[in-house]
Amino acid sequence: MASFVRVFKHGSAFYNLLERKCAAAVVPVRYLNLQEYQSKQLMSEYGICVQNFRVASNVNEAEEISHSFHVEEYVIKAQILAGGRGKGTFSNGFKGGVKLTKNPKDVPNIVEQMIGHKLTTKQTPKGGVLVNKVMIAEAVDIARETYLAILMDRESGGPVIVASSAGGVDIEEVASKTPELIHKEIIDISRGITDSQARNVAQKLNFKDDLLHQAAQQIKKLYDLFIKVDATQIEINPFGESKDKRVICFDAKLNFDDNAEFRQKRIFALDDHSESDHREVEASKYHLNYIGMDGNIACMVNGAGLAMATMDIIHMYGGSPANFLDVGGMVQEEQVLQAFRILTSDENVKAVLVNIFGGIVNCAIIARGITNACRNIQLKVPLVVRLEGTNVDEAKAILANSGLPIVTATDLDDAARKAVASLQ
Ligand code: GDP
Ligand code: MG
Repeated sequence: MASFVRVFKHGSAFYNLLERKCAAAVVPVRYLNLQEYQSKQLMSEYGICVQNFRVASNVNEAEEISHSFHVEEYVIKAQILAGGRGKGTFSNGFKGGVKLTKNPKDVPNIVEQMIGHKLTTKQTPKGGVLVNKVMIAEAVDIARETYLAILMDRESGGPVIVASSAGGVDIEEVASKTPELIHKEIIDISRGITDSQARNVAQKLNFKDDLLHQAAQQIKKLYDLFIKVDATQIEINPFGESKDKRVICFDAKLNFDDNAEFRQKRIFALDDHSESDHREVEASKYHLNYIGMDGNIACMVNGAGLAMATMDIIHMYGGSPANFLDVGGMVQEEQVLQAFRILTSDENVKAVLVNIFGGIVNCAIIARGITNACRNIQLKVPLVVRLEGTNVDEAKAILANSGLPIVTATDLDDAARKAVASLQ
């Protein structure tokens, strides 16, 4: 889900490091990400200018919309959690996840080419993402496309507005080839955005006359939304100017801070998990972090650093991780059982490696969880366990007396070597 603004994003250390390190990893959802139609619904509640639209989940609904929703021109947009749709391709060969038509009769035909097919764009995983819904909106003639984003920026310790007058589908290229065309406005979160800051950004975007005022107003409303909904990112590309002199948010990508779920219940209830790895979703139910990869050694670890080290050493011995499950510091026996169930649900898994450094974690709890899990799920692949730290002697005794074929390891190196060797 790489997006132009990804450079500015920051997740937990675990995700960040793993994501950077493993190009092949299934990138987990770190921040709630809504579909465009859901984001635009929220935006319109905040007085932000978006086009009128309807949503269809099948061709019949699209047919009905084409009869009841009368506009001069329609823009039909596949709803997936990735950008670059305009230049994307569907699994059936159909080109373009954003299509314009003036003929209402074309609407269901276009929708038929999108729903139920996978759309691949620059920002999706290789195989593309299945389209379940489309947005059918009133198309507007665009005079000019600019880029606007508001994000939480680690460097300045607060919100920053990123703006470029060279918006539209080639923004990644603008960012890499002509970074001087990108303007950053740092906002003091306790003061909020000032009128002059909003105006300054609008000016940088080359809005003129009445459009300058409109753009500044829209920017302030977007900032208001950003704060009120605990967003980590609002990306509007294009933030455009219509031929009839209106400032309109033609596209929208909103991400929300997962830590704010408790006070943003309505927004988080919109999450349909339709594009998440089901194991990741399952893991999060038990407060575990799961990351899928494409090797064959399942890894249960605690902490991001240990995950990274484990991955490096597995690679060093010629192996490759199937996944990582970070059990965190407060893990209980039941969670270890669930962790094993999730880790081994992948049929590519040919060995399991447990690498836990007990600081806050009590090794005996892990050992009891492991032996319990082995019996419960009738583990059929080799299991290598390396435990170190708090209560390790009791833990080792539990493993040794379990009667289970568990291979123990003295240190990380030994563990990785034994895990790779067990595959032969
Ligand atoms: P993305 O490709 O996933 O970023 O999807 P967008 O919603 O940004 O649409 C891609 C492009 O389609 C935009 O940059 C516009 O050039 C074009 N587009 C989107 N909506 C409209 C519209 O209402 N009218 C016109 N003329 N073009 C549009
Ligand atoms: Mg766009």
